Parts: sequence; C-alpha cells; structure tokens
Amino acid sequence: MNKQYIAKGFGILLGLLFLCAPVLAQEYPIDLIRDNIYRLTAGNPVLAQEYRIDLIRDNIYRLTAGNYCSVFMVTEAGIVVTDPINKAAASWLKRKLAQRFGKPIRYVIYSHNHPDHTYGGEVLDGVGINFISHQLAREDLIHTKAQTRIPNIVFKDDMTLFIGDSRVHLRYHGTNNGRGSISMLFEPASVLYVVDWIVLGRMPYKDLQGYDIQGMIDSTRAVLNMDFEVFVGGHAKAGQKKDVRRYLKYLETLYDAVRDGILARQDLPTLQKEIRLDTYRDLAMYEEWLPLNIKGVYRTLVDESYLLMRPD
Ligand SMILES: [Zn+2]
Repeated sequence: MNKQYIAKGFGILLGLLFLCAPVLAQEYPIDLIRDNIYRLTAGNPVLAQEYRIDLIRDNIYRLTAGNYCSVFMVTEAGIVVTDPINKAAASWLKRKLAQRFGKPIRYVIYSHNHPDHTYGGEVLDGVGINFISHQLAREDLIHTKAQTRIPNIVFKDDMTLFIGDSRVHLRYHGTNNGRGSISMLFEPASVLYVVDWIVLGRMPYKDLQGYDIQGMIDSTRAVLNMDFEVFVGGHAKAGQKKDVRRYLKYLETLYDAVRDGILARQDLPTLQKEIRLDTYRDLAMYEEWLPLNIKGVYRTLVDESYLLMRPD
C-alpha cells in the first residue's frame, strides 16, 4: 500500500469519527471516544484499556471493566458507587469520578460476597465513606479473610438510602448466587442493578457454579414485581423489563426440561444431547454453554433435590 492510500484511508477514518461523534456523544462519554481515538492512533494493544463509562439514564452511569460492570449514581450530595470489581478498575473509576464530577464518594455498595466483584473496595475508602452489603455477604468476606474493605453497614431484608434528590432501594430476595446477593433500585432514574443471577443477552455462566437455580427463578420473579425501566447487570447487556422477563422464561424452560428429563430416567449426556432451547439461540455463548447450563441444573436437582433418590 502506498502513502497516498494510507493517507486516504486515514482521512476516511477521521471523517467517519467526526460523523459518528454526535451520535456517540449521546451514548458514550467523551472519555470513551478519546480513549478509542487513542487506541486507533497508538495502535498499541497494551495501552488499550478495557474501561469505560456509559451514561445509562439520568444520573446513573455504568462502569465497564473487561467483562464486568457496576453502576454508580451521581447526586448533588455525592456519589454512590457499587461493586469496585478489582483494584485496577476501582483506581481508574476513582480518578474518572474526580475528573468528571468533582463530587465525593459517599457510599459503596457490594452486590454480593464474590471477590471478582467486591475486591478493590479499599481503593475507594476514605473518611466519611460508608460501605454497605447484605449481612451474609459481610460475614462471608470476614470468614474468608477477603482482602477488600469490609462493609460497616449491613441489612437483612431491605434498606433505603436517601442522598440528594435520589434514593437507592436495596433488597434481599433469598438465595440465588453466592451469599447475600441483593438487587439495587436507583430512583427516580428507575434503574435496577443485579449481578450474576440475572444476565441479559448472554447465557448464564457455564455450569452455574455456586448458583441456586430455584433461587434464581424465585429472585427474578420477585424483581419482576418491582417498578423499574432499565436493567443493568454485572455482566453482558443492559436492557428493559421485557428482557428480564425473557431471561426468566429461559431459566424456567431450562429447569423444566432438565427436571422432566431426569424424571423420564434420562442420564446427563442424553439430556445434554437432546435438550435444545433454540428460541434462545441468539444469546451469546448459546451453543458453548447450553450443555453446561444443563449440567448445572442437573447437579442441583441431584444434589439439592435428591431427584435420583425418589421412590416413584
Ligand atoms: Zn460475576
């Protein structure tokens, strides 16, 4: 390729960036656009950070760090942050919050106990900052000697924080994944944040390690009775209530298919071969993870419900 073509190509690329800029600016913050231009021009994969901040709605933003997401809410009275994810992500977020909003962090809320979401809390810590989780999540972090900031406020069933003109409703729906995994409803933006036990646009994770499938179904049903307009998960896509409804339908269909297969005396390899849920084949990782999802539900039904020990 000669220089003329390279120059022309670069010109077209720049033109496209300018054309896209007004559209991108609505959905993505200027930082992201700048970071992407930096990526394109630097051409160095080591410098390409997988961090970004998206405005979700009103005063609610989403932090993406690789495959992980958390949300934060900006108010006049300060910022409410959720999962710090890890030390590097929390450091990046802390810097961006100071640069863009100039408001102090007031609360950090952990969605549940798992270290791949709750590590890095100490990076966000400071005078007057409260860390909140469900009591079971706090207990687990202490029992397992987790190296993150331990929450100083816990709750059992639900709790509401009032900050500025906004509120956050925290609710525990029972066992679903890990320990003390809660939903967070941000008002008045009407954004719901749930980690791991609701995932949109992608299959539930592999063989559902640590998941209570019946609990996931029950908790998702409970969430669907709440008023919210936008859903943000700890992984994969954001969506609307109808998407959460569709996710619930997937879980129910998967559960029913595996249960009925076991009751019809089919073994796991047969179930993995025969169960197809092709209405959901648009979900990311459908082919790869469907047999693993089946295995996860099978294991739960055998270990928890003792389905192979039924006398009938
Ligand atoms: Zn997760």
